[in-house]
Amino acid sequence: MKEKILKLLKDSGDEFVSGQKISDELGVSRAAIWKHINVIKEDGYEIEAISRKGYKVISSPDILTFEEIKNFLNTKYIGRNIIHYDSIGSTNSKAKELAEASCAHGTVVISEEQTSGRGRLGRNWVSPKHKGIWMSIILRPNIITQNASQITLIGAAAAQTAIMKMCVETSIKWPNDIVINGKKVCGILTEMSGEIDHINYLVMGIGINVNLEEEDIPMDLKDVATSLKIESGKCMDRKLLAANILNIFEELYNEFVQNGNIKETIDVCRKNSMLIGKEIQLVSRGKVRIAKAIDISDSGELIVENEQGIIEYIVSGEVSVRGMYGYSK
Ligand code: ADP
Repeated sequence: MKEKILKLLKDSGDEFVSGQKISDELGVSRAAIWKHINVIKEDGYEIEAISRKGYKVISSPDILTFEEIKNFLNTKYIGRNIIHYDSIGSTNSKAKELAEASCAHGTVVISEEQTSGRGRLGRNWVSPKHKGIWMSIILRPNIITQNASQITLIGAAAAQTAIMKMCVETSIKWPNDIVINGKKVCGILTEMSGEIDHINYLVMGIGINVNLEEEDIPMDLKDVATSLKIESGKCMDRKLLAANILNIFEELYNEFVQNGNIKETIDVCRKNSMLIGKEIQLVSRGKVRIAKAIDISDSGELIVENEQGIIEYIVSGEVSVRGMYGYSK
């Protein structure tokens, strides 16, 4: 009911909405409306209430609910259902739980903070409150299991393009990170439930360090992590950025699952790659190999030349890529 009242008020823009109108349209008592308005205020909305005129929204908080994002969103199904939390352990874990319970394709779980955000291989992801975009998209693609790793690249391309629209240049560290000056501003974690030839669902988590300050980044991550605000000196609109990622993601995703076309995604990953031309370390199950990154293939593998001079195609998910002297240097 709280959401319905808020929608009514926001849809009326500058006009006051009378208690009578809310009561008639939503079938709630005037006393109940008052209680809901107080909860809405606690969420950070400034509401003007004038007797005989009604209620009006004066200002909205910086939160990533559907109500706040929808004006920027032009998708058909991605993010049309947003499940928003103030705080949660991990959006990927919640999304997997919801996917198991048959939640719709395109549903997005967003939280203002994650208390146990996750990276790959059980690593943690720092996710302070109201500072980033911590979200997971539930997908049920009708593609073969082997192609699931390409969805990660679609996420990376969407995030890179959306960040560029905010006038910040970034590079993609194939396959799942976005970096500025060699430090990570965004990480993508794709998790899958399926059988050999069939995907039940995919959950794609995207974590973006948007407005984190230096002091929000733990000491041990100072060399590997940064934020859009730290790098650009500007506070970014999280609502616009989140919506743009979802908008671009849906376009690229449709091209891939409907037309089998991943060209635009690969173009973005190639053009903005921070690995191509560099000596890198390929880390897999504790073993480290050195190679030179040559290119990204048309289907998204990293093409490397190994120490024996042999060309190899690396599929994302098999390895972690490191620079010769640390995370990316
Ligand atoms: P990689 O792809 O580099 O192997 P992951 O995708 O698994 O790494 O991400 C987890 C790692 O990212 C953590 O071990 C930590 O080093 C780093 N990290 C954790 N939180 C953040 C954050 N908010 N921003 C950037 N890096 C982070």
